[in-house]
Amino acid sequence: MTTRLYYDSDALTFTAAVIAHDGDPTRVVLDRTAFYPTSGGQPHDTGTLGGVAVVDVIDDDERIVHVLAAPLDLGPVEGQVDADRRHDHTVQHTAQHLLSALAADRLGWETASVHFGADRSLIEFDTAAASDDELAALEGWAAAAVAEGLPVTVGYEDAAMASGLRKPPAREGIIRVVTIEGLDRSACGGTHVTSTARLGSIWVRGSERIRGRTRVEYLAGQRVLAAARGAVARLERLAAAAGAAPAELEELIPRRLEALREAEVRLEALERELATHEAARLVAAVPAQADGARWVVEARSSRSPAALRRLADAMRELPGAVFLATRTDPPTVLLAAHPDSGVVAGARLKEALAAVGGRGGGSAVLAQGTVPESAALDRVVAALVPA
Ligand SMILES: [Zn+2]
Repeated sequence: MTTRLYYDSDALTFTAAVIAHDGDPTRVVLDRTAFYPTSGGQPHDTGTLGGVAVVDVIDDDERIVHVLAAPLDLGPVEGQVDADRRHDHTVQHTAQHLLSALAADRLGWETASVHFGADRSLIEFDTAAASDDELAALEGWAAAAVAEGLPVTVGYEDAAMASGLRKPPAREGIIRVVTIEGLDRSACGGTHVTSTARLGSIWVRGSERIRGRTRVEYLAGQRVLAAARGAVARLERLAAAAGAAPAELEELIPRRLEALREAEVRLEALERELATHEAARLVAAVPAQADGARWVVEARSSRSPAALRRLADAMRELPGAVFLATRTDPPTVLLAAHPDSGVVAGARLKEALAAVGGRGGGSAVLAQGTVPESAALDRVVAALVPA
């Protein structure tokens, strides 16, 4: 059995004895510990035992198992809990008590589950939706409770006799009760600040609906300032990249996006016009077949698929023109034909592709397809182009 020092003391340095190994000397059980194990949504502490890093702390019923970066012998040992991490978790956790109590009493939202991650804290409330006004009110009530500096105290009571608890206790016998004066009495084994004043700021950042419930994200204590600094720094980097002041971005970005959209439309029109001229030049440069068709072949083209498509669109507008192009990556074939060329693109290409194990087809004037490997491209070209 491990005595949980953190129940009654905020001390982060302690002496203890390694009394057992949990199957492996890197997993040790102490007679007493200040290390908080992962439980109740609050993540475990880190720190050192006998100078060895503690990487995980597991709540194993009556025992607490410390998972270490290296083996540790049985016997006396000094423990040191990482203060910043513990304090941050203590603040997030106590803020959750406060928010859960205020949400239940004033909005009728019961807490279904909680989660504290490395950079965000979440409470899942048993409500289908949360309006911006409700979230703002919750944040305001929390700020008022912080300003009042309400005492947060820990006591031990008989579960059968304890009254006014937010939830019925999960166990019988003596339970640990955490009280926020005038607001909340909850059975809890976590770590807590001694006054709501020590929570600093509480920022209710937003919510999302999930499985019929509402998940609210919040930050408390130092995390509020860190998040605000991060957001401002990002904004300043974006502004610097845009060559503007942060305050100008809201007006500048929509204007630039609109200009970009207009430029893209103009570019597309110009590229189509260019393709029209190029198609005419290419068709004029090849001799007409006996049936009048003029075949322009571009095998293993280096043009982009979009450029080839524009060229094909222009070709099929030119009387007598047939345009055949291939690309190697991936191996594809494109065939375009003017209606009076005598070539029915879809049917011709489908037949040529089938002969080499490829697939594809299209309309009478525009068709495309793929072949299994680049080597087959030349066979397709040879099969299609008149001798
Ligand atoms: Zn608690």
